[in-house]
Formats: sequence, structure tokens, C-alpha cells
Amino acid sequence: MAIRTILLYPHPILAAKAEPIKEITQEIKTLATDMLETMVAAHGIGLAANQIGITQRILVIDLNPTTDDSETSEVNDPALGPHVMINPKIVEQKGSITWEEGCLSIPDQVGEVERSAEIEAVFTNLDGETVQVRATELMAVCIQHEIDHLNGIVYPDRMHDRAKAREIRLAMKALKSA
Ligand SMILES: [Zn+2]
Repeated sequence: MAIRTILLYPHPILAAKAEPIKEITQEIKTLATDMLETMVAAHGIGLAANQIGITQRILVIDLNPTTDDSETSEVNDPALGPHVMINPKIVEQKGSITWEEGCLSIPDQVGEVERSAEIEAVFTNLDGETVQVRATELMAVCIQHEIDHLNGIVYPDRMHDRAKAREIRLAMKALKSA
């Protein structure tokens, strides 16, 4: 297990499309463990492989609240995670919901994004089984945000408020050259 470095926008790998995973090898299992550990250490609720420089279609999500001084969840609702989703795909979507999103690759910034309010997603789990989930609210938003990463899309790309999106991009570019 290891904590990996989270790439910051505008790193080119964040704009790359990740490749489907053909086989769940030991390397993929280690990657999943590392991603969960990296996400928890960064106090995030979701992380896609692109964000640690790996262009393979895998993401992790855990919406359980964690305490600051430990990695164990205060509440452990299995519906909330931890989830490892391999080759995730949205197969159905309904309605719309606007959520103020943040991103571990875009620290200290938030922006409103309109997403589908209710989704059905299909993915492969670490045991190689196909799983179908229905998600609403934050879980639906989070899955859509993380799948976007696998397609090289970051949330400012989807913001209706173009001025605010530009502000976020400029702040990140300034951070990079600082
Ligand atoms: Zn993100």
C-alpha cells in the first residue's frame, strides 16, 4: 500500500482518455488499494486513476464520513462505500441536479455543475463481477464526476458559469507557475 501523488490541473494526463481494463491483475488490486488510501489521506470522497497519472478505467468512491485523525469511518454504511469501480459506464440517466463540486486535482476551488439527478451505472468489481447500481444525490454526482475524469473531463469544463470556470482555471495555472 502506498499513497500516490495526486496530479493537479492542468496536468495533461487529466485531459487524457483512460483505457479499459482487460484483466483484474494483482497490479490492479494494488492500484485500487493505493487509490483508496490516497483518497482518504487527501480527505476526498472520490478519485479516478487519471488523477494519480494512470490512464486506466478505474475509480474509487467512499462517501462515509471519516474522522480527521484516523482512517476508520465513523459510520460505515456499505451503500456509501468504499467502492472500487472498474470500467464504469452510465447506462441510464434521469432529471437534473445542481451540486457545488470540488476536486482533489483542483484544490481550494469549488464550482456549480449540473448533472443527472438519478443514474444507473454498470461496472466490474475487484472480484471480476458485473455490478449494476442506482444512484441519486451525492453518489450520482460523484460517479458522474469520476467517470468524467476517465474521459479527460474536469468539472470546470461542465460549469454553466463560464466566467467562474475561467477564474478557476486561471487560479490553477497561477498555482502551477508559482
Ligand atoms: Zn475530481
